[in-house]
Amino acid sequence: MTSQPPGVHRPQWPYCEKRCSYCNFNKYIPRNLDELRMKNCLIQEAKTLIQLSKVQRITSVFFGGGTPSLASPLTISGILDTVSQCAHLAEGIEVTLEANPASADALRLSEFQKAGVNRLSIGIQSFDNAELKLLGRNHTACDAFGTLEEAKKLFPGRTSIDLIFGLPGQTVASWIQGLEKALAVCDDHISLYQLTLERGTSLFKQVHQGFLPTTNVDIVSEMYECARHVLQNSGFHQYEVSNFSKNGAFSTHNLSYWQGSQYIGIGPGAHGRFVVRGDGKNHREARIQTLEPDVWMKEVLAFGHGTRKRTPLRELDILEEVLMLGLRMDIGITHQHWLQFAPYLSLWDVFGEAEEVQELAEHGLLILDDRGLRCSWKGLAVLDSLLLILLKQLQQAWMDWRPQSTTY
Ligand code: SF4
Repeated sequence: MTSQPPGVHRPQWPYCEKRCSYCNFNKYIPRNLDELRMKNCLIQEAKTLIQLSKVQRITSVFFGGGTPSLASPLTISGILDTVSQCAHLAEGIEVTLEANPASADALRLSEFQKAGVNRLSIGIQSFDNAELKLLGRNHTACDAFGTLEEAKKLFPGRTSIDLIFGLPGQTVASWIQGLEKALAVCDDHISLYQLTLERGTSLFKQVHQGFLPTTNVDIVSEMYECARHVLQNSGFHQYEVSNFSKNGAFSTHNLSYWQGSQYIGIGPGAHGRFVVRGDGKNHREARIQTLEPDVWMKEVLAFGHGTRKRTPLRELDILEEVLMLGLRMDIGITHQHWLQFAPYLSLWDVFGEAEEVQELAEHGLLILDDRGLRCSWKGLAVLDSLLLILLKQLQQAWMDWRPQSTTY
């Protein structure tokens, strides 16, 4: 690696009020939460990991979860103060908080704003009460409309909503109707997620026991395709597989992530990727923090951080990530960007001559030109299948190029 991009910061708040029926994230329903202890541990871990890393400049902070809107605004401001004391914060830095309509009334939102949050991502999921019930959400459509209205006043142009499609029993028509409802009230950013039935969730059980219908993959693809067209016709630009914005309201945090920035994840179950200071190497490692909050807190109090697993990333691992994440964006991967990670092996070297890649280009799915490598509009919808071919090609090109000294 020749240069390291700046870093982003991702604190996790692992608690939720209730388990949604489809969720298999690392989240906990607290009984007697000692928030001060939790806050102090998040601050301690932020300090430790920033100092351990080679990240000197932070370009965005993203409070995710769980449900970070359940945290006290004082916890949020305490973490932000710590980050600003330990690293240089870029001018006008984006600070996003994920909010659940059940814990984000007008007063709370304004307190989060005073704490330093300047962008809100609201987990609305649906504006239909029957769908919200199916998803096990603890809010109603009315709560969602209320939170959205307040958020737009406080964070104009910086309020995003998440919607889920592909629910059991949902039709293309009902999904598009719901999307149009959302378009009538939303701000400038929408994220769409396809429901995946995760083992161990209550929704998975209900479908597998036959209490709910299975979802047809062709119908789900049609839902996605129709939504893309509806959003495009409403002035939204699809800048990533799941993300749409207008008036330039894209998430700079997520763009940094897809562009391979280093990131420092703090909190139970957080993931990070950064270069460790002073180990004589310039390669990143992947870090996963301990999942269970009480155990994680004990580790932070004992060692300053609760890192459970550290995995050194090989150069090929990093290139695979750059490829997988970069192609999620409509702009894809520029030559300049790729060369930051692989100065010795250009995009032309890897993909220029490959027959299968040329076939993808001929079918109008992929573009490799002087700008770089990217999916076409059609290709973005089938990215997973393109990646199977592209990753294989990258691995082959790497093996052909790989210097004898590289260890595996
Ligand atoms: S609020 Fe989010 S993290 Fe919590 S259970 Fe629901 S989907 Fe999972």
